[in-house]
Amino acid sequence: MSATLQALRGMNDVLPGDASRWLEFESLVQRWLARHGYRNIRMPLIEPTQLFRRAVGEQTDIVEKEMYSWRDELNGEDLTLRPEATASCVRAAIEHHLLHDGPKRLWYAGPMYRHERPQKGRYRQFHQYGAEALGFTGPDSDAELIVMCAALWRELGLTGIRLELNTIGSSAERASYRTALITHLENNVDSLDADAKRRMHANPLRVFDSKNPLVQTVVQSAPSMMAYLGDATLAHFDGLKRLLGAAGVGFTLNPRLVRGLDYYNLTVFEWISDRLGAQGTVCGGGRYDGLFEQLGGKPAPAAGFAMGIERLIALQQEAKPEPVVPLLHAYVVHLGAGAAEQALRIAGELRDAGYAVVQHCGGGSLKSQMKKADASGARVALIIGEDELGAGEVTVKPLRVARAQARVPAARLAAELTGWNDAKAGT
Ligand code: ATP
Ligand code: MG
Repeated sequence: MSATLQALRGMNDVLPGDASRWLEFESLVQRWLARHGYRNIRMPLIEPTQLFRRAVGEQTDIVEKEMYSWRDELNGEDLTLRPEATASCVRAAIEHHLLHDGPKRLWYAGPMYRHERPQKGRYRQFHQYGAEALGFTGPDSDAELIVMCAALWRELGLTGIRLELNTIGSSAERASYRTALITHLENNVDSLDADAKRRMHANPLRVFDSKNPLVQTVVQSAPSMMAYLGDATLAHFDGLKRLLGAAGVGFTLNPRLVRGLDYYNLTVFEWISDRLGAQGTVCGGGRYDGLFEQLGGKPAPAAGFAMGIERLIALQQEAKPEPVVPLLHAYVVHLGAGAAEQALRIAGELRDAGYAVVQHCGGGSLKSQMKKADASGARVALIIGEDELGAGEVTVKPLRVARAQARVPAARLAAELTGWNDAKAGT
């Protein structure tokens, strides 16, 4: 026998028990996005490697060590499995002139790929939902993005997710802060690791992103960027804070928050839970006014966020551990000549009327079919035997409540089944 194969490390199967939770989660998230006026966009999973080098930035964890990249020899192209989707979204917006008639609110979802060390809450294939508000200068747009997240946590029944907020100013302001920061890093070079030393001169702010505790002590004592921020940046930030205050969304200012991608400016934020250990950030985002131009498009302001589905689902599972069981109204049991044909017809009619119905397959005795009906989780068994067939009726047997079974004319079944169930499928 050949050896069994397993999924790659950090790439997970989501089995039906969990997938039901994912479906419920995604349906809620999609309705929430629609209610905020965001429209779906779908981009390829594979993009030119250059897209991420230019958008995410060279001195980032993603580009330096996390991308799945290869050369397609046939076409002579350098390709990458997307590690994130903002770059693709902006690429698509430029390519298809999506902003020609004004700003757009877009959302995307799907798998992302990063070559990281797998651990709880950190995978090599993980999933994000992201929203991008393209063409708005904010800070009202920034506030919208943040406030809508707060509404989602409430809807999902998640508590204890806090907001950390910062402004990283304009590129000119960051350039003026740079010298002071490099001096501080040079003075503490013995506490820096190889990554930090490499980034210190090329892109010193990147050092803030380090997860190394020793490097973090140097980061904590770094001079604050606040002193280098000009009036326009401060006015934008004050505007955002005022709007968040009015919306009742609390936040903590974190002057060390810069986020792991190069494209951000002004507002950056993260939503963090303390219940997930080291992998506590469930959503991150900010403003990226320079990205359109950086990718060769007409300059356009933009802001957005991405949230990690695995981490949010882990939180939700902790808050609501009961399994999510899909609703099944009826399981059709059938015995004898002609009953299978009638079962097929009746199951079809009931589904057309909106019920979720499973028809027994594979034959067997009444007893063994009833066992399957019970195990299916269906609310009622519909029994079609020779008697029922002859009379044009069906026996309805409740499986979840103490109630006597009854014979119902097949023609009236769809109408009468409502009385045996609380709701139709999908409602
Ligand atoms: P981290 O600091 O945890 O590595 P990040 O800054 O790299 O996060 P982003 O690029 O901002 O993450 O992605 C947005 C969200 O996607 C994160 O807040 C997190 O919820 C989720 N995420 C990122 N990387 C992973 C991963 N490897 N596995 C699972 N979820 C992830
Ligand atoms: Mg990361």
